[in-house]
Amino acid sequence: MTAPQSDEMQLRAGLVRVMKKMAASGLNRGTSGNASVRFGDGILVTPSGIVPDLLDEDSIVEVAADGTTSPGAKRPSSEWRMHQRILEKRPDMNAVVHCHSRHATILACSHKPIAAIHYMVGVTGGTEVPVAPYEVFGTSELADTVVASLDGRLACLMANHGQIALGRNLDHAYALAEEVEEQAAVYYGTLLIGEPHILSDDQMAEIFNQFRGYGQKR
Ligand code: 13P
Ligand code: ZN
Repeated sequence: MTAPQSDEMQLRAGLVRVMKKMAASGLNRGTSGNASVRFGDGILVTPSGIVPDLLDEDSIVEVAADGTTSPGAKRPSSEWRMHQRILEKRPDMNAVVHCHSRHATILACSHKPIAAIHYMVGVTGGTEVPVAPYEVFGTSELADTVVASLDGRLACLMANHGQIALGRNLDHAYALAEEVEEQAAVYYGTLLIGEPHILSDDQMAEIFNQFRGYGQKR
């Protein structure tokens, strides 16, 4: 076996870091959740059923395009197909994070998409964060329903399960997962008050336009 290149080691280290960050920020607990990055024609993905505290670079698993792993590698996340198919569909994106964050999961368990309650819902690329229909975790069917529900967006809820976000890199994907959790919590709160005011499609179109000029652009 050839020694891993340093950019591969950086990607592996990034995956370990993002899993620890999701545990520390409360987006995940225990062995819930997983993360991946594009690697050649395949992916690097977190191993199945290992708590973030026990992860290191060597625990990360390379899954080739045909789904195979190297002899001696740990078993990849049960959701590796979901990660692989999401990245296959979006050649412009390179990282995926999945978590069971509380408020996103509350809405996912109620099969309630996050409505355009706040302009930041728009960072996910749509006017709502949809809910992928329920399928058993770790199945090819779940991978398919998630890809179909994303439909060009960068995040969706997963019925009776959690949420998933993708990005240009792990930091971007993590930031979106954190924002989805925040917007889920805000929406949940407005539903408790009982009078959520949803932004219209026209108002969201203004937001998408405003995003184009936002930040340090010249
Ligand atoms: P893995 O430990 O296999 O990644 O599974 C965790 C999970 O969240 C399944 O959806
Ligand atoms: Zn999960």
